[in-house]
Amino acid sequence: MSINNKQGFSTKAIHAGEKPDFREGATGDVVVPIHLSTTFARAKTAVPTAGYEYTRSLNPTRRALETKLAALENAQYGLAFSSGLSAESTVLVALLKTGDHIIAFDDLYGGTKRLFNSVFTHYATTFVDATDAANVERAVQPNSKLIWIETPTNPLLKLADIRAIADIAQRHNLILVVDNTFLSPYFQKPLDLGADVVVHSTTKYIGGHSDVLGGAVLTNDSGLYEKLQYHQNAIGAVLAPFDSYLALRGIKTLALRMERHAQNALAIAQYLEKHPKVTRVIYPALTSHPQYELAQRQTTGAGGVLSFEIKGEISDAERFLESLTVFSLAESLGGVESLIELPSVMTHASVDKAVREQIGITDTLIRVSAGVEDIDDLIADLAQALN
Ligand SMILES: *Cc1c(COP(=O)(O)O)cnc(C)c1O
Repeated sequence: MSINNKQGFSTKAIHAGEKPDFREGATGDVVVPIHLSTTFARAKTAVPTAGYEYTRSLNPTRRALETKLAALENAQYGLAFSSGLSAESTVLVALLKTGDHIIAFDDLYGGTKRLFNSVFTHYATTFVDATDAANVERAVQPNSKLIWIETPTNPLLKLADIRAIADIAQRHNLILVVDNTFLSPYFQKPLDLGADVVVHSTTKYIGGHSDVLGGAVLTNDSGLYEKLQYHQNAIGAVLAPFDSYLALRGIKTLALRMERHAQNALAIAQYLEKHPKVTRVIYPALTSHPQYELAQRQTTGAGGVLSFEIKGEISDAERFLESLTVFSLAESLGGVESLIELPSVMTHASVDKAVREQIGITDTLIRVSAGVEDIDDLIADLAQALN
């Protein structure tokens, strides 16, 4: 992958992986074509054309996306998958063997937790509160191989100190994996902070338009990449060419979108903090956030997701949500449209109520994915529904 790491973020987002081809017979497309061919013919029996043989192993459209994502995360290597969870599963198959021990943040995306608890049961996983890096180190065992975190978490927006945990990983010879879905490389670059592997659900901010499922894995470690690439092909959960194109198209405006998502999220958070019917607002760019200092240190922005709690009972929360007209009441996040949801009834309904209350997901905790609409319309909608 030829990547120019001296260029700025938006320049790479637009150009990396999509150089027009001026070779004899090529057409100089400015946008990489959607290569649907599943197989690639060769002129000489022993020589694949430009390295392409079969689309599961390597596809030009997918490769363009992999190159672009690698450029944005300051990675040498990138791989794209059919979903965030298939990317994660490939990492877990490729890098671990039966009996290996994983230390994981106890506040992970539910689907990731399900992989550890119900799918990869031949590994042992210890969940710790990784907001304090010391808890991660205390969980290290002789068979520990990998640390898995995401930061900020969902929906409580807890942070983990990537650099401190990377130091622990290095001291104990462990692989640190960071799920960077929530901030995208625009606001946080875990590899620069010492992580070994970054994973993404590109379904969220990278795709950015709530219309394409996908996942990605990025690394600078050639040994890890070799294993990951082998398993990408061997397992075959690759991203389709058309979906690769949609993700490529989305990424070009990532910087613009992330700036607006964060502006809108902050304005909503500040509005809600002053509202008499709101008891608590959680957003890492508010000085009231318990890890505000860490957010300032390791990220360049707080992203588009915030959570808040309203007074009353679950029925009050439901009435509020059903009164909104600009926000859509829906799961997921990271698209241009503002979404809102009730974790206790929707995304986190499968978590035991006692556990939910204990970690802070109360009945009236509401999660917002701030879109890129006009802020006045978003605030007016919240105001009328709160009334
Ligand atoms: C959505 C999400 C995933 C799973 O990705 P899919 O694309 O839905 O498979 C993983 N991690 C985080 C943080 C997510 O938000």
